Amino acid sequence: MIVSNVLMNTTARAPIVMVEGKGSWLMDGAGNRYLDFVQGRGTNSLGHAPSCVWQALAEQASKLINPGPYCYSEATLRLAQELVERSAFDEVFLANSGTEANECAIKLARKWGRAFRGGAHETITLFNAFHGRTWAAMSATGRPEYSATFGPLVPGFPKATMNDIPSVERQITARTAAVMIEVVQGQAGVLCADPAFLQALRQLCDTHKLLLVFDEVQTGMGRLGRLFGYEHFGVEPDILTLGKGIAGGAPLSAVLAKEHACVFVPGEHGGTFNGNPLVTAAGLAVLKEVSKRSFLQEVRDLASYLSLSLAKLSSELGLPGEGGIGLLRRLDLGQPIGPEVVAYARDRLAVQPSLGGSALLLNSPSPNLLRFLPALNVTRSEIDQMIEGLRFSILVALRQARAVAS
Ligand SMILES: *Cc1c(COP(=O)(O)O)cnc(C)c1O
Repeated sequence: MIVSNVLMNTTARAPIVMVEGKGSWLMDGAGNRYLDFVQGRGTNSLGHAPSCVWQALAEQASKLINPGPYCYSEATLRLAQELVERSAFDEVFLANSGTEANECAIKLARKWGRAFRGGAHETITLFNAFHGRTWAAMSATGRPEYSATFGPLVPGFPKATMNDIPSVERQITARTAAVMIEVVQGQAGVLCADPAFLQALRQLCDTHKLLLVFDEVQTGMGRLGRLFGYEHFGVEPDILTLGKGIAGGAPLSAVLAKEHACVFVPGEHGGTFNGNPLVTAAGLAVLKEVSKRSFLQEVRDLASYLSLSLAKLSSELGLPGEGGIGLLRRLDLGQPIGPEVVAYARDRLAVQPSLGGSALLLNSPSPNLLRFLPALNVTRSEIDQMIEGLRFSILVALRQARAVAS
């Protein structure tokens, strides 16, 4: 068993050292193969080591890695231009993680509220949200265990409930500057906003003169079968944050904003790595791939196939059902066996010769369910293979749970 005592203990890690990845497949140092339906929690939007991304990285690395944030680079200018042209927004801020993108969005909302809404500074966020782990992002996330451990948190993030407009209305006061939400709450278990809720929220923000911020770190860049998740709902926010899959696994994030929300002046926000051409070149490569004609149609077709396959498995095993939008999906297990399913699929499945000797990487953000974030170019046969491994792993976990209960 590999346990590192020099890496700070911040994440529960499996004792596996991964050495290589290609598409939907990962290989560890012992030569085991894993079919990956987590993909770095959705960062590898085109699978592991897609050739368009590593070629862009290699080419850019040989030319220019980081001239510094105080001048321009070609890749960065082109990426910002492409993002603006393909979206409803006017300006772009580039950063290195989803958390930082949200931090920027929250600072924009605070400055905007101070200037244009009588000194307002609060951003309403939702229960069960996930916006990141820095001070403001962690406070916006607002899990009770965070305040118990790290409190006092940053004030100014009152909470409302997903798909409940009156709960948002009740939090709006003279102090409110913005409402920030995920259109699908991924970490909370793939809970989707209703289109009617988002439309009413847009109206509410217009009526009260508030900024609407969508955290699309998980849902943007093709994940929901549209380039941006908001297109799926027909509702445009004032500020959009992107991360995870936008550079195919390289650390890049972005804030896209409408002109009226772009209130920073030089010196108020930024960072030394922000918008470096190494990662923006990777971002351009991903955007080019995802924007190819029929790419997103194929994502939607794959999503229907995955949805149907999960629904079939669910009814076969007597589970409550599946859900999600695009290739961000959920399977409800009906009992807290998620961690057992994940561990079995990863550590024990490969010994089943009927499944081709491969293991399976799955994710259980809460014990009653599994979340699926496959590569956007996953194949139907990989989906079939995953379903086989999943069936086996769930059956074992159900059997164990019954044995414990009796
Ligand atoms: C992952 C995630 C974040 C945080 O992004 P990092 O790149 O891990 O900092 C923020 N918001 C949402 C919705 C996410 O899924």
